[in-house]
Amino acid sequence: MDWFGTFPIIAFFFGLIFGSFYNVCIYRLPRDESIIKPRSFCPGCGKTIPWYENIPLFSYLFLRGKCSTCGATISFRYFFVELITGLAFGFGVYHYGISIKTLEFVVLASLMIILFFTDLDERILPDEITLGFIPVGLIFAFFSMERNLKESILVTILGAGGLALIAWIYFKVKKIEGMGMGDIKMLALMGVFLGIKAFLALLIAALLGTIAGLFIIYVLKKGKRYEIPFGCFLSIGTLIAYIYGNEMLAWYVHHYIVH
Ligand SMILES: [Zn+2]
Repeated sequence: MDWFGTFPIIAFFFGLIFGSFYNVCIYRLPRDESIIKPRSFCPGCGKTIPWYENIPLFSYLFLRGKCSTCGATISFRYFFVELITGLAFGFGVYHYGISIKTLEFVVLASLMIILFFTDLDERILPDEITLGFIPVGLIFAFFSMERNLKESILVTILGAGGLALIAWIYFKVKKIEGMGMGDIKMLALMGVFLGIKAFLALLIAALLGTIAGLFIIYVLKKGKRYEIPFGCFLSIGTLIAYIYGNEMLAWYVHHYIVH
């Protein structure tokens, strides 16, 4: 039997359990509530959810998306976050094998999943995630084969510092906040995990954000007052740059610098 073939599947199930916890983080971190206590409860009737109704994916399906006591609808989001976290864990082991890089990817993907949804829901990128995990990113940079500690620190200072400066000038000139401090702290986090590829991630995020912005204004006609959750695009950009960054940079060098 090919034992290695089963590892991504085991990782997938581990990911489901972590995803269930991330749902709690996504809801509670922006509200400054404890992520440990109390246990999960139904926002409709306040009933504490027993363990057998809190099994990732299965409970949602079994309960058909409703609280067993009061019938309040449970958001599909809970199911979705568990599923993508499971897939991220499975993909990490499938793509990187069993290595420090796998652990790094799984941690980074987890942070990006949490930041994506807190920004989407509340326009908040919690400091506990952005600033809190910078030391963790530095430890990974120390062990990384692709970037070194100096590069990560330099990119973080230049990237986040540069953005902070632009935001400050923009604020002084226009008197309104163009980019939030949350985005800048998130870029600092990206710098330690991605090194130089953080700039690629920022570029991808800006491109996706612009396309989404035009779509929201001209197709959905939500008007210019709709605040784009830029952190969502930074999350997507980060994971694309992490997974495909080397190939993208190699392609760019080959087409535009070698020729
Ligand atoms: Zn209920």
